[in-house]
Amino acid sequence: LSSWSAVPAGPPDPILGVTEAFKADKDPRKINLGVGAYRDENGKPYILGSVKKAEELLTSSKPDKEYLPITGLPEFTKKAALLAYGADSEPLKQGAVAVTQSISGTGALRIGGAFLARHYPHSKVIYLPVPSWGNHTPIFRDSGLEVRGYRYFDKKTVGLDFEGLKADLLAAPEQAIVLLHACAHNPTGIDPTPEQWQIISDIVKERKLFPFFDMAYQGFASGSTSQDAFAVRHFVSQGHQIALAQSFAKNMGLYGERVGAFSLTTADPEEKARVDSQLKIIIRPMYSNPPLHGARIANAILGDKALYSQWEGEVKGMADRIISMREKLYSTLTHDLKTPGEWGHIKNQIGMFSFTGLTPPQTKALAEKAHVYMTGDGRISMAGLNSSNIEYFAESVNAAVR
Ligand code: PMP
Repeated sequence: LSSWSAVPAGPPDPILGVTEAFKADKDPRKINLGVGAYRDENGKPYILGSVKKAEELLTSSKPDKEYLPITGLPEFTKKAALLAYGADSEPLKQGAVAVTQSISGTGALRIGGAFLARHYPHSKVIYLPVPSWGNHTPIFRDSGLEVRGYRYFDKKTVGLDFEGLKADLLAAPEQAIVLLHACAHNPTGIDPTPEQWQIISDIVKERKLFPFFDMAYQGFASGSTSQDAFAVRHFVSQGHQIALAQSFAKNMGLYGERVGAFSLTTADPEEKARVDSQLKIIIRPMYSNPPLHGARIANAILGDKALYSQWEGEVKGMADRIISMREKLYSTLTHDLKTPGEWGHIKNQIGMFSFTGLTPPQTKALAEKAHVYMTGDGRISMAGLNSSNIEYFAESVNAAVR
């Protein structure tokens, strides 16, 4: 008898399931709006020119394949922290930011969850927005934290439920942990305004909550890395101690290279050194040390003036293409097709994703009748749209809601 005869079959991943169905569909008009990876104007994966150049430079320097330190490539993590916190950041200037390389954003969240579970002295409860990225709950649960939710999305307005958010954070137990999407909230595409962020910061201070930022899309939302870092920098400027997960999957298109960073702001360099030592103790038995290649690429881009400005232009190019698809989809639905319903949210949302407001039966009909695939909650990846398929998509949506 096999040792695994009693292992139950788990449910399939809801997002990867969409891709399976898409692959099996033979219709030439088919569109996959499930994937969370950028696609260019021709619907193809996009390798940034700055990344190609950085790789060429790396290859010609014939680097070795030695192990990295436990917390990764120090030049890279220093630059990653600078990108997030900004040159004016007090804790950064004081040498009080503990930072480690991570297996992209997911790994950063997991290191953070494990660190908080072990060392945060006040609470083991983390509040996530409802809804949030589907992997947040299992990441934090498996890290040893208790996961709860705070209201975020208002179905009626397809916008932010700011009253619900405020009420839930005010009602949270003192010193609980709260997860905040720094920008380009996934899956809704709805971010607080700067004024709302200031109010959230005040509530977090009043309730002594611990803010943990997930920044998976810096630069990808607005096209500007500093604009997208507004919330993180505002909280730090208000004296909050924060935890931060960074990913270079989207903004550098380094998905499979797994490049990220996790950081904590601390009181002073002496405390930072103690925190650093404990980060190493958490990471060493998990995966010993992080991968080399992607960190070298990101380091080359962040550290070279010409490559950096090329990269900034390329991030902006991706963000702008997505924003133009939002405008085109909105105007085709409302002006050309006179589709019933309110579609302004498509234009107002930001980042890779849009919550369309389409219902599960409508998304099912879109897959079966129009060969258009998205997650059952009506979330679409804007990056899957381009000038060749957007009209067909709009017509399909128009037919599905009538
Ligand atoms: N956080 C959010 C909100 C995300 O959307 C993603 C990517 N889907 C991640 C974290 C982590 O992605 P990765 O591990 O590829 O960096």
